[in-house]
Amino acid sequence: RTSMMLFTRDLRVRDNPALAAACRAERVVPVFVFDDALLDGPFAAPNRVRFLLDGLADLRESLRELGGDLVVRRGDPATEIARLAQETGAESLFLADERSRYATRRLSRLRDLPLRVTTHPGVTVVPPGDLAPAGGDHYRVFTPYWRAWDGRSRRPIARTPPSVRLPAGVRPGPLPRFADLASGATSRDLAAGGERAGRRRMADWLRDDAADYDRVHDDLAADRTSRLSPYLKFGCVSPRELDAAAPDGFRRQLAWRDFHHQVAAAFPSLATRDYRPRGHRWNLDEDAYTAWCEGRTGIPIVDAGMRQLHAEGYMHNRARLITASFLTRDLGIDWRRGLRHFNDRLADGDIADNAGNWQWVAGTGNSTRPSQVMNPHRQAARFDRGGDYVRRYLPELSDVDGPAVHRPWTLPEARRRALDYPPPITDP
Ligand code: FAD
Repeated sequence: RTSMMLFTRDLRVRDNPALAAACRAERVVPVFVFDDALLDGPFAAPNRVRFLLDGLADLRESLRELGGDLVVRRGDPATEIARLAQETGAESLFLADERSRYATRRLSRLRDLPLRVTTHPGVTVVPPGDLAPAGGDHYRVFTPYWRAWDGRSRRPIARTPPSVRLPAGVRPGPLPRFADLASGATSRDLAAGGERAGRRRMADWLRDDAADYDRVHDDLAADRTSRLSPYLKFGCVSPRELDAAAPDGFRRQLAWRDFHHQVAAAFPSLATRDYRPRGHRWNLDEDAYTAWCEGRTGIPIVDAGMRQLHAEGYMHNRARLITASFLTRDLGIDWRRGLRHFNDRLADGDIADNAGNWQWVAGTGNSTRPSQVMNPHRQAARFDRGGDYVRRYLPELSDVDGPAVHRPWTLPEARRRALDYPPPITDP
């Protein structure tokens, strides 16, 4: 008997329940379909395409080591899967359970094929929809969700990858080149994708930094958070494995991630809908928006965050909060424009997490507690006390010592004029 394993955002061989189930058949066809509908849309940002291709090259190598290969196709997933089923005689299809609007549509088209289709958990720790409030429909607020999430029993972890036997005569097909999929440059210091790189990162972070997470995760200069978000985005590491190994403060962040996925599944318009009162006016100042995107607002802590995003395709969570708050609260610019800019650059850019967080910062969304404004000066004093984070990302201020780097406008006139750095565009 032959089965198919459709990889989507679960690019790993370890602790991948759908792959393990597919491999119980005598023969299995592991496949990834480059979906034109996604490649033509905002998903195809250069950093994410690069990260995806790294992940697929790594997955192919692992599947080869396990006795199989990765079959690569391009087109509409349902059409390509139907064709492969015909070619190989496969009778069943396995894939990860995912509930975004796009994934739900894809699944319903796959279910129309003459195949037994089974989904398995693996994208989140607790699948969206598994937890519901007593007597209610969906969780809208995090704290009760976290309590239920924390108390929920867990599936066992499958640490050993399965062996993979391909049916005879399947043509694996080449991986496309980056230039076939995306245009534009990737970030200079983008991390390498893939399960091997992700597992190395996970092991290093668990060994060196995890125990201190609660104390240091907000310290911008220390940079000691896990940086696992793009690996989680593409499933190169298993969230379930992290949940079993990491301290509670970190598990709470994983619960935030699950929460956003749960909310996005329950309220699919989350990414676009603005819940502000009718008549609310956004500031349409293009110059201010461009200054924000380019990290030239003249507020060093904001600019450092935006430059980190540009240089690495990643930004520290505290800087995401500060830059997002500055855009929406101080400049009064529509959060959806900020979301789009983040999504163009973030290797971990994910519609549920990005929109959920932007809404939270902008004080819209379904949270009952509109959050407070984060004053960038106070944030800088608290979370980049010595100014090292700013100096790391703003070379034009690297000679300004100590916390004075946060207020270059207070430097003596001559010194200030010698810096290639703009005055603040607003006084937050
Ligand atoms: P760690 O502190 O090591 O956290 C571990 C993991 O928990 C992260 O990898 C991530 O998967 C998850 N996590 C942590 N915080 C959050 C959170 N607030 N919401 C959801 N998951 C979380 N995260 C994304 O993965 N994709 C996004 O597109 C994204 N957009 C964001 C936009 C804004 C405006 C803000 C404020 C936050 C956004 N985040 C997003 C959440 C968070 O900033 C990143 O997950 C985190 O900075 C990644 O770094 P890390 O892996 O070192 O985090």
